[in-house]
Amino acid sequence: IQWEKQVRSSAQIHRSGGMSVLVTGAAGFVGSHVSLALKKRGDGVVGLDIFNNYYDPSLKKARKSLLSNNGIFVVEGDVNDARLVGKLFDVVAFTHVMHLAAQAGVRYAMENPQSYVHSNIAALVTLLEACKTANPQPAIVWASSSSVYGLNENVPFSELDRTDQPASLYAATKKAGEEITHTYNHIYGLSITGLRFFTVYGPWGRPDMAYFSFTRNILQGKPITIYRGKNRVDLARDFTFIDDIVKGCLGSLDTAGKSTGSGGRKRGPAPYRIFNLGNTSPVTVPTLVSILEKHLKKKAKRNYVDMPGNGDVPYTHANISLARRELGYKPTTDLQTGLKKFVRWYLSYYGYNNGKPVN
Ligand code: NAD
Repeated sequence: IQWEKQVRSSAQIHRSGGMSVLVTGAAGFVGSHVSLALKKRGDGVVGLDIFNNYYDPSLKKARKSLLSNNGIFVVEGDVNDARLVGKLFDVVAFTHVMHLAAQAGVRYAMENPQSYVHSNIAALVTLLEACKTANPQPAIVWASSSSVYGLNENVPFSELDRTDQPASLYAATKKAGEEITHTYNHIYGLSITGLRFFTVYGPWGRPDMAYFSFTRNILQGKPITIYRGKNRVDLARDFTFIDDIVKGCLGSLDTAGKSTGSGGRKRGPAPYRIFNLGNTSPVTVPTLVSILEKHLKKKAKRNYVDMPGNGDVPYTHANISLARRELGYKPTTDLQTGLKKFVRWYLSYYGYNNGKPVN
């Protein structure tokens, strides 16, 4: 009863025409930012997260406190728990689902393949089954990934480019997610939007990602490992700042259409959409390191090694014209500015003062 009360109050809408959104992966990097942005503009938000220990769970707990201080309740549980998800839909008539829960990371898939099947495939189906029978049927926006472009080297990537060469199990599960959601769209009339995020970074980010672990090692005076591609070519990524991604997520929710009532489409076929959300200006990893050195006022000990053949791709670059046109998506933060904000957050979160730990 207490639980239900918290869920109901968190889902309450505080603006006219607002939405009530179930955000899965709400204690994660992107999920926490999206939840706060929705709440801030008056939408109702309920979070769901399993708080797994893929990376430091204390960071997820800290994000949860931040959300809780802003009136957002995060239920601790598994998206693949059909009973729990069903109960959430019984308590709240969610108009939208923002599905961000996933097992992320391309290298971890070598040791833990099953966790990708569990969180990226089985949990997705469990969630879609719940959405299918919910009344009203919520519109779904979910995170796919730029990794679906895989070994395709024909950049910039646009949504119609081939995605049949995944370079990792992670990429394969995201590609599978696109096929699965497409099926639920045309069979059951669910409104689906898949977002292919390109290397998202920023405050409250993920410690397993390169920009984050580089920052930690540079501050601690430890060497950093920089991968190089074939013929010693530098790897490059279309690094995209979290605030830009959040705007793309909100734009997707706003244009996803209202829910259509149980089992049915009342206003023509439900949309199935896929968008790239990137920055359209790839930066090499050594350049990323130089920017970090500047902001941290400390030199990195660079250790160059050949990229191991375990899932990384050499280069990513998004064509974002479709998202620009349909969602009004327009990234505004360059890597210099975004990393400055990240470093400021990092130093304060981990208690650094003038480049030195406070205690
Ligand atoms: P994250 O790991 O910080 O967040 C994911 C959250 O999902 C975690 O808090 C985790 O505990 C939770 N989770 C995992 N399995 C779950 C389950 N079965 N039930 C409930 N919760 C579960 O990752 P993120 O960077 O915030 O990524 C968000 C989404 O965006 C993911 O789908 C990810 O694959 C996708 N994505 C991220 C990036 C990026 O650069 N950050 C790039 C492309 C795609």
